[in-house]
Amino acid sequence: NEEMVVASEKLSVIGQLAAAVAHEIRNPLTSLKGFIQLMQTTNTINHDHLDIMLSEVDRIDLISGEMLILGKQQETHFRPERLDDILQQVLVLMEAQANLDNVSITYENLSEKLLYVSAESNQLKQVFINIIKNAVEAIPPSRDGKVSITLEEQGTNAQVVVKDNGVGMEPERIEHLGEPFYSTKEKGTGLGLAVCKKIIQRHKGQIHFQSDIEKGTAVEISLPIEEEPSAFTD
Ligand code: ADP
Ligand code: MG
Repeated sequence: NEEMVVASEKLSVIGQLAAAVAHEIRNPLTSLKGFIQLMQTTNTINHDHLDIMLSEVDRIDLISGEMLILGKQQETHFRPERLDDILQQVLVLMEAQANLDNVSITYENLSEKLLYVSAESNQLKQVFINIIKNAVEAIPPSRDGKVSITLEEQGTNAQVVVKDNGVGMEPERIEHLGEPFYSTKEKGTGLGLAVCKKIIQRHKGQIHFQSDIEKGTAVEISLPIEEEPSAFTD
C-alpha cells in the first residue's frame, strides 16, 4: 500500500541519516567537553575558546532543528515556499552523511530573483534528500567525491540539478528508475525515486536523468515557479 511505502522509505532514510547526524553532533560535543575540562583544570576562561564553544553549540542547534522539521507531521496544504530555503535546509542534513563518505557537496543559487514554488516543504525536502543520498551513494570510496547542486530559473520553471561524479548508469537502467523496489544496491530499498516521482508529480513538476557510465549522473528536477507571495498576506 502506497501510504506504507512512503512511510517506510521515510523511516529508512531517516534511520540511515540518524547515524550520520549522531556522528555530526558528536564532534561538536567532544570539542565542547574538551574545552570544559580545560577550564576545570586551568580554572581560567579563554575568550577565544568561548567563541568556538558557542559556534559548536550553534551547530548542534542547527542540526537538531533540521531533524525536528523533518520529523514533523506532513502539512496538508501547499503554500509558496522559497526553493533556496528548502535546499539550504536539506544541505545541512546531507553534509553530515556526505562528510562520512568523503564526498563534498556544493550548492549554488544561479537565479537573480527569489524562486518560490507551491509546495509541501517536508515532502519537497524528502525529494532532495533521496536524490542527494543517491548521488553520494553512487560515488566509489576510492574517488574524490563531488556532488554539486544548482538552482536556476528556466522559463516558467525553477530547476534544480543534482550532479555527481559517481558510477553512472546504462540507458536501460534509467528506464527503470522510479519503479518501486528497483534497486541495484545490496541494502537499497528501491523506493527513494518512486517516492520522489510521486511527490514531484503532486507538485506538477518533472524529473529527468542524464548519465554517463563511470563519469556520473545529473538529476534535473523542475517545478513551476509560483508568484512571490505578497508581504501583506500570509
Ligand atoms: P535505492 O537507493 O534504495 O537503491 P532508489 O529508488 O533511490 O533506490 O534508486 C534506485 C536505483 O537507481 C539505485 O539502486 C541505483 O541503481 C540507481 N540510481 C539512482 N540514483 C543514481 C545515481 N545518482 N547514480 C547512479 N545510479 C543511481
Ligand atoms: Mg535511494
